[in-house]
Amino acid sequence: MNADLLRSKQDVRLSEMLLKDPTVSAVNDFIARKEGQGPQGTRRRLLATSVRLSKAMAPGLHKMAEECIERLDVSIPVELYAYSSPQFNAACVKPEEGRLFIMFSSALLDGFAEDELRFVMGHELGHHVYGHHDIPIGYVLKGQKPASPDLALSLTSWSRYAEISADRAGAYCTQSLDAVARSLFKLASGVTSSVVQFHLADFLSQVDEMQLEDQAPGAGAPVQDWFMTHPFSPLRVKALQMFHNSSLMKDGGISETDLELGVEGLMALMEPSYLESKADAAIAMRHFLFAGTLLIANANGDISEQEIKVFEDFFGKYKYKESFNMERLAEDLPKRAAAVVEQNSIPKRMQLVRDLCTMARAEGHAKPAEVSKLKDIAELLEVPEFFVDQLLAEEVDIALS
Ligand SMILES: [Zn+2]
Repeated sequence: MNADLLRSKQDVRLSEMLLKDPTVSAVNDFIARKEGQGPQGTRRRLLATSVRLSKAMAPGLHKMAEECIERLDVSIPVELYAYSSPQFNAACVKPEEGRLFIMFSSALLDGFAEDELRFVMGHELGHHVYGHHDIPIGYVLKGQKPASPDLALSLTSWSRYAEISADRAGAYCTQSLDAVARSLFKLASGVTSSVVQFHLADFLSQVDEMQLEDQAPGAGAPVQDWFMTHPFSPLRVKALQMFHNSSLMKDGGISETDLELGVEGLMALMEPSYLESKADAAIAMRHFLFAGTLLIANANGDISEQEIKVFEDFFGKYKYKESFNMERLAEDLPKRAAAVVEQNSIPKRMQLVRDLCTMARAEGHAKPAEVSKLKDIAELLEVPEFFVDQLLAEEVDIALS
C-alpha cells in the first residue's frame, strides 16, 4: 500500500488551497530566499542542544525507524535525536542539506513502550511524507503581520487534518489500534504508571459525551480538561478507530468516502461553523462576536487600523463605523452573553472565545487591557479563564502537542 493513499482527503484539499493563498506564497518565497543563502543552521543547533542517537546507542530505535522508513517509503536519510524534557513530545524538523531530523523528548523515550514509540515515529515521518512542512503555519500565524481571521481559521483547520494524516501514517506503521490509543492516551494524560489502566472504550466515550453535549444547547456541561489539549486526543483516537475499520486497513471495511465523512463529522466539533449558520444559536453567537470584538478593540481607549481590519474581516458587509456606541454595547453585553449561554454548549462558546482572541491579537500580541477584557468576556460566557491563557500562549508547531 502506498502511504499517499492513507492521507486525509481534507488535508490534501486544504493544503492545495493554502499553497495558492497569496499570504502563504509570500511567506514561502521569503523562506526560499533565506534558504537559498545557505543552510539555516538547523542541524548545527540540534547537535548543540540535543543528543544524536547513533545506531550503537539506540539499536532498537534505529531498527524501528528503518522499518517505518521502508513502510512509508521515505527517500532521504533520517537522523534521530533526544533532548531533555519532562514533557512527552516529538517533532519532525524540516530537512536541511538532504537530511531529515526526528526529535524525541527524554520523557517520551523513557515512558513509551516499543509499539507506542513506533506510532510516534510513523506519525513524525508522516509529516515529512505528506509535505506538511510546505505550509509554514508557524511563520504565518506568528509572523510580524497577523494573518486574516479567515486564513488563520483555514490554517488551524488544515493543521488538524494534517495531524489526522500523520496519525494514520503512525497507525499504518504500528498496525495496532490498541498501541496507537495507548500512545495518545499517554500523550494526553501524561500518565505512564500502573496506577492507571488504559481502557479504550472509556477513553472513546469522552467523544460521545462531547457530541451529545454539542447537540443539547444550554446543557450545563462540566468543563473537561481534555478539550483544552491541542490537538484533542480522544477525537484523534476516534478518527483512528474509523481508519482501522475502513477498507484502507482491512478487507470489507467501511468505504473511504464514509471514512472521510465520519472524520469530518468529528472535526466539525472543532470548527467555527457559527459564522455561516442561520440557526438562532449561531446568530446569538455572531451578535456577541460583533459586540465583543469592538469592546476588545476599544479596550485601550482607541481602535487601531489593524483592529478595524480584523473587524472587517469578520463582518465585511457592515463595515466599521466611528459612531458605534461603545457604552451601549458594553451595557448590553451581559444580555447578549445570556442569549449565547442559553443556546450554546461549552465547546461552542469556547469557539467564540477563541475567535475573540483573534481581535486581542490584532496588533501582534494581546495587551494587558485586552487580555483583561477577554477574561471578563470569558466569564460572562461561563468559559474558564485558563482557556484564555492557553489560547494566548498557544504554540503552533508541527509536533505531537
Ligand atoms: Zn504531528
